[in-house]
Amino acid sequence: MDKYLLEEMTWEEAKEKFKETDIAILPVGSIEQHGPHLPVSTDAFDAYWLAKETVKRVKAPNPVVLPPLNYGVSYHHMTFPGTISLAPETLISTVYDIGCSIASYRVKKLLIINGHGGNTPALKCAAQKLTYEKKLQIFIDSGEIASKERKEIVSTPNDVHSGEYETSTSLANREELVKVDKLVKAIPKFPLPCLEFSGDNKVPWVFTTDKLSKTGVLGDPTLATKEKGKKLWEAHIKNLAEFIEQLKGIKT
Ligand SMILES: [Zn+2]
Repeated sequence: MDKYLLEEMTWEEAKEKFKETDIAILPVGSIEQHGPHLPVSTDAFDAYWLAKETVKRVKAPNPVVLPPLNYGVSYHHMTFPGTISLAPETLISTVYDIGCSIASYRVKKLLIINGHGGNTPALKCAAQKLTYEKKLQIFIDSGEIASKERKEIVSTPNDVHSGEYETSTSLANREELVKVDKLVKAIPKFPLPCLEFSGDNKVPWVFTTDKLSKTGVLGDPTLATKEKGKKLWEAHIKNLAEFIEQLKGIKT
């Protein structure tokens, strides 16, 4: 397979690669608390890992995977030590600058593989500017592309952070860093039913994690298994790889 990690290319190799493909992938993560049982780098590791596993499934020519952005917008976790947050403006500017650079090498489509939901508003702002100013078409996946499979596999409602879903996926790709003796169920209680994260007729809102959870967990990690994690990753990787194949044929 061709090289696909920009960080491993020389400028001459990068020049050739950008002639071969007009699709780039930017993994974006976060450094933030993930409860007492998962490492703070979970979202950053997962976004980059997912990008690499996905590109391995794509037929030649494969896209360029850009070096990841490991930090994200994590203000809502700041009361838990180890969390390091960018300001939303910093993330917007950084993604915008990266977009300007790749647009100058004839990249037309940028797929952002986002490991952290808190990054989404800033990523969309950067995308709006880049689409308007640089004619770069930007696609952001924060897991939505495999939401159907997630609903089938994960049974816990409001399982949004370090719960059944994320602990399962961590058991499947970094089992050695999961503290299985520290798994505690923490289904949040919400001030109003319409403020719950899952279900219909909800009002989106910006929350602070410590108001909803003492441990930082929002969900039920005790239901996590490696098997569920493998299935969740498989669905995500397969759906993303298929999406990239379809993207190749789209004119922007
Ligand atoms: Zn996470």
